[in-house]
Amino acid sequence: MKTNYNRIIFLLSNLIISALAHNGPSFIQSDPTKCKDNKDPIYILDEDSLGVIGHGNHNYIPVCPENVPKIKPKAKRAPLYKEKILRHDIHDGQRHNMEYDRADIKKIIDIIENGNLTSYTNKNSIDTGEFEFDDDDVSASSAFKIDFYCQATPNICDRAKYSFEKATQKIAIALKIKTQIIVQASLYSFCKIKGDSYCNSNSSIGSAAASAYHILNNNGTKLLYPQPLIKQINDIGIYLAADITSDFNSDYSFYFSGDPIIEDGQIDFEYVVIHELIHGLGFATAFQKYFSLVAKVIDDQDFLSPGLSLINNTYVSNWRSIQIFDKSVVSTANDVSLNTYNNDIMKFVSTSGLVSPLEYHNEFIRSVGPYQAAKRVLEVASNKTGSLVFQTSSGDRINLYTKENEFLQGTSIAHLSDEFKFSPDFIMISDVSPLQGKTISMMYEKYGIDEQGNRYKYGAIGPNVLKILKEIGWEIAEPPENIYNFYENPILTIYSASDARLKYIINIMITIFKIIFL
Ligand SMILES: [Zn+2]
Repeated sequence: MKTNYNRIIFLLSNLIISALAHNGPSFIQSDPTKCKDNKDPIYILDEDSLGVIGHGNHNYIPVCPENVPKIKPKAKRAPLYKEKILRHDIHDGQRHNMEYDRADIKKIIDIIENGNLTSYTNKNSIDTGEFEFDDDDVSASSAFKIDFYCQATPNICDRAKYSFEKATQKIAIALKIKTQIIVQASLYSFCKIKGDSYCNSNSSIGSAAASAYHILNNNGTKLLYPQPLIKQINDIGIYLAADITSDFNSDYSFYFSGDPIIEDGQIDFEYVVIHELIHGLGFATAFQKYFSLVAKVIDDQDFLSPGLSLINNTYVSNWRSIQIFDKSVVSTANDVSLNTYNNDIMKFVSTSGLVSPLEYHNEFIRSVGPYQAAKRVLEVASNKTGSLVFQTSSGDRINLYTKENEFLQGTSIAHLSDEFKFSPDFIMISDVSPLQGKTISMMYEKYGIDEQGNRYKYGAIGPNVLKILKEIGWEIAEPPENIYNFYENPILTIYSASDARLKYIINIMITIFKIIFL
């Protein structure tokens, strides 16, 4: 009996998963945006949409709350190894990439000798680890739990694990994380797993998003809240197993925490992890070129909108809400918030019920007001720096990344503008290339100085980044008393780039100094 019951559950889960998959059987039972007891659906990340060009075509699928526990994260598929040429170079518009054209030969030889990439898969559970922290309210040691799927050499996987531990500590000292955040993280070759189109310069270093967004009423407006945040502020009881889903591309050359030397052109993996996890905490926009870049039913579109509630990649019901982050984004040209434009966009409702994304698009562009509002959003989001700001309730206006005459999906709006690249807010700029060859401790040492010339207290989680996180609902922790428990000592950092032995000697000298004088 028990076996039969399990089998039914198994079949049911498969049915739901295949219904969610792009190539699953085409059946429509009912509109999942109309759930039992009038409950709102939960928007679940379509993992296949992670890690694509510009890391910003995230697609969310509405699922009614009663179906959520049956859905399990999909394991990454590992096709047989095929040799690919790994070539990355930077050119304008390709953000989150970096100059790197050396393939990791050792890794490739390892894979060839062992035949199958899956032999390297290991799964680990990492938590933030024990560390000293002086705020009793926060249980920082268990702030994050990371389910880590690693397809790289055991050596790289171990070093990456350590970086995750260090990265999550650096976030946990800045935010009061009361309910543990569960992160599903995968490190693998995008080129080998995702296919040929990821073997070129367009492939991203990493990508992350909240695994699910939940609808919450915010002063009469329905807004989408990322699951890790909703867990802290409003216990709704039904969650997807993971709060953040993240992919990291092992085709890049990473420096891992604790490695003696960072080489020119390498990027600190910890930097990438922190940056991506902050996206997963809700530093993300719903505005996108949905029809051309996500549903891919037209070549290009001249407007931005939130995504649609998509059913089996075939039918749509209606717009999704915008995200809590979007509520505070304001166009400086006329001081109109994107929320105001969005209210006009939302006035469009398809008259035909369930339609295809293309039919919905064609009907939408015949609407007058809603279509004009959506065009205006694209205009303000593809204008020069300073066109869009994140406006906090205390009146701060923080410049977001925009580019004149171009909208970069996943980059525009959802990052700080480039002016912050050499400031304490370096963590959320869109282009990591200026920060290559520097460890996160070196970046903090160099740029972590506040406006008064004092050492900035929250390490790599910059002041404007914290203002934004606070505005969307995160509680900020008291600053740690000794930030250098979490960042390398500056004296050591200066030398770490050039001479690991010197660093070791200095370390011994400091220890002797401490024994004698303290
Ligand atoms: Zn980013």
